[in-house]
Amino acid sequence: MPYVEDFKQIIEEQLARVQRIKEGGDATDFSAKDKIVIGIVGGDGIGPVIMQSVREILQKLLAEEIASGKIQLRRIEGLTLENRIAKMETVPQDVLEAIKECDLLLKGPTTTPGKGDNLPNIESANVKLRRELDLFANVRPVAIPEKNIDWIFYRENTEGEYALGSRGVNIGDEISVDFKVTTDVGTIRLARAAYEYAKNNGNKNVSIVTKANIMKKTDGKFLKLCYDVAKDYPQINTDDWYVDIMAANLINDQINSRFNVFILPNLYGDIITDEAAQMQGGVGTAGSANIGNKYAMFEAIHGSAPRMVEEGIKDYANPASINRASVMMLRHMGLASKAEKLERALDVAASELDMPGDGTGNTAEEFTQFVLERI
Ligand code: NAD
Repeated sequence: MPYVEDFKQIIEEQLARVQRIKEGGDATDFSAKDKIVIGIVGGDGIGPVIMQSVREILQKLLAEEIASGKIQLRRIEGLTLENRIAKMETVPQDVLEAIKECDLLLKGPTTTPGKGDNLPNIESANVKLRRELDLFANVRPVAIPEKNIDWIFYRENTEGEYALGSRGVNIGDEISVDFKVTTDVGTIRLARAAYEYAKNNGNKNVSIVTKANIMKKTDGKFLKLCYDVAKDYPQINTDDWYVDIMAANLINDQINSRFNVFILPNLYGDIITDEAAQMQGGVGTAGSANIGNKYAMFEAIHGSAPRMVEEGIKDYANPASINRASVMMLRHMGLASKAEKLERALDVAASELDMPGDGTGNTAEEFTQFVLERI
């Protein structure tokens, strides 16, 4: 029975992964750190343009902390397509080492060669970084002020249906089996990150989203463990919902503004966060964070926009999304008032500036000056 051998190997690999997570340590307490190093990675295409914006804005917003040595902004060079191709490495070793010497990363978009690009087949730098830095929580905020909606989603980023996505088995032509993996350590660390965020940012409600009535082992475990973690946060209300009714709740204006923080397994998180982002105005309207216990990486949702470079209009790239990611980074560090200040300035920029990305309207530099005057 070859399937039995395959299954044995899968279980052994997952047990080894659990062991690695256990040895990985607790979540970083940024308030207890004497020095926080933020690595700023330029990336490809419009990357350097938008990263210059976020760097200038952070330099002003964090001037005191930078002067006192509490925070350092460190430029990391070399995560470019040219360098990756020259070295034939997804993330060149020296760049990876430099990244690992930082605590947090603000990353510009990186190009992944596609089929018709006539370039060597290099893996996505993001996938490699998520794995190398064990970035287990995908965090995406969604705000719709006119509906009083202020949500933040904590999606599990390394387990569930995705842990063994390409490892399912066909048994003859008749049966196909995929796997879904939920671990204690993987779930607890995600739930802990979500509750810590809720606590540090004054959120009152956490909602756990599963299908535990059907997926009794995996989602059942996920739900129970989230409630276990909730006991350490008695000031926060916790409730739980099945993913099908939550998909409906999000578009139910009678109740959707009641929700604050969501915790979801990987697949439901993938689907529900796209639904939520679409309600906000599209999947490109927010920043995004990939968070681990040791490291965290913040980035724009869009890519490197190579066509803007080819057309000579890269200076018109909109730096809003990476600056929204920077707001998330400030909140992750517990600097809530600085995050709010920047967020307010970005809201004004969004309503007063015109940045269609076609070489007309305001430039990235004008955007940066506009925000600098308001923080
Ligand atoms: P893209 O997001 O780069 O571009 C999509 C469209 O949005 C284009 O018309 C582009 O000009 C426009 N656009 C994107 N960002 C903009 C900005 N800041 N201001 C104004 N207009 C903007 O998506 P794509 O063309 O599918 O991908 C290009 C490359 O980026 C690919 O190699 C892809 O793999 C990579 N990518 C990287 C990341 C990442 O690093 N996180 C994410 C997505 C795509």
